[in-house]
Amino acid sequence: MNGLRVVDTHCHLESDEFRIDLPQVISRASASGVDMITSAITLEALPEGLRLAENYPCVHAAIGLDPRRCGDLQTVLRYVRGSSSRIVAVGETGLDYYFTREHELRKEQEECMRAMISVARELGLPIQIHSRSAGKAALDILRDCEASQVQMHAFDGKASLAREASKELGYYFSIPTSVVRSPQKRNLVKAVEYERLLVETDSPVLGPDLTGRNEPANVWIALREIGAILGREEEEVRSIVLENTLRLYNRIHVK
Ligand SMILES: [Zn+2]
Repeated sequence: MNGLRVVDTHCHLESDEFRIDLPQVISRASASGVDMITSAITLEALPEGLRLAENYPCVHAAIGLDPRRCGDLQTVLRYVRGSSSRIVAVGETGLDYYFTREHELRKEQEECMRAMISVARELGLPIQIHSRSAGKAALDILRDCEASQVQMHAFDGKASLAREASKELGYYFSIPTSVVRSPQKRNLVKAVEYERLLVETDSPVLGPDLTGRNEPANVWIALREIGAILGREEEEVRSIVLENTLRLYNRIHVK
């Protein structure tokens, strides 16, 4: 593959939404220069994530746990340990205070998140963090666990918190395609240290338009928008973001 490449650091190729045309979705991404980290977060999706990473050189697997499926934690931990040589990251995992309001269930999510941080550390792998309506809570836990090699995905918390975490803790923040329609994400771009910016699509969701299915080839839209927001050339942003990505994900080799 010649040409210039970038990594969609977070998507969900195992989703039902891709069942009918996944090979085409992956080849569209690859042909446009996109490598992908697909994050499997349900027991059903785990073998599929590993299979995709094995079948497609441009697909890399991460194994995580949907915060609303904490009951599966022990199985997922076994799975992560058992497939540690075949994955590039643990995650996504974390907190979802948007869907989960009850204190007890939030506590349970916190325990799961701590267990996942600890397995990532044990295996020396980066971790992808979900923190919907829970940006500060998630960062507090990460700091408390002294987590390193962290990617905050689709962070919806305060820009000042992201600024601090990227600067002082060296955490990475991935900007999703929805940056084209989200003032909060635009502020995030400006707040995060340039050396800590990544891009993602979170496909099939968080697309450039609210209703359509998102796909990894669209990650270029996020990249272009970051360039526009920061007043930098798209190619410069691509090269810095790729460098950032490969610094965090040292198991990925992109030409
Ligand atoms: Zn996701």
